[in-house]
Amino acid sequence: MQAVKGKGTRLEKRLFSMLAGMKLKGWRRNASDVTGKPDVVFDGSRVVIFIDGCFWHGCPYCERKLPETNRDYWERKISRNVERAKAHYQRLVNDGWVVVRIWEHEMSNPDSRKEIRLRIRQATKPRSQKPMTVETEKTW
Ligand SMILES: [Zn+2]
Repeated sequence: MQAVKGKGTRLEKRLFSMLAGMKLKGWRRNASDVTGKPDVVFDGSRVVIFIDGCFWHGCPYCERKLPETNRDYWERKISRNVERAKAHYQRLVNDGWVVVRIWEHEMSNPDSRKEIRLRIRQATKPRSQKPMTVETEKTW
């Protein structure tokens, strides 16, 4: 597994074991060939999953404790991360990917974990079971 700057593998491992527990198939981890190097990629259903560390991605819900020294440096670094993630998101969506983003804090709450599992199941459903398909759009 390659080390992704500013991201703890502990967090990724929790996501991997969650997916394994859901008995989902057809996913791979740390796909460096996909925009933004998602933590998880489902090639078949074209779903990517990112798990974002609350500190590194400037989570709006968690209080960020920036280091006392070099505050500007950290502010800039984090806002660059946020901008980069937004750009990746846009490109992925344009390329037809379904993007699931999970916050670090969501993984520590049982209710949120339940909701995440639901989101992932919904996203990775076979295309024929999704409410909106390309075919139905064409008939308009
Ligand atoms: Zn957070």
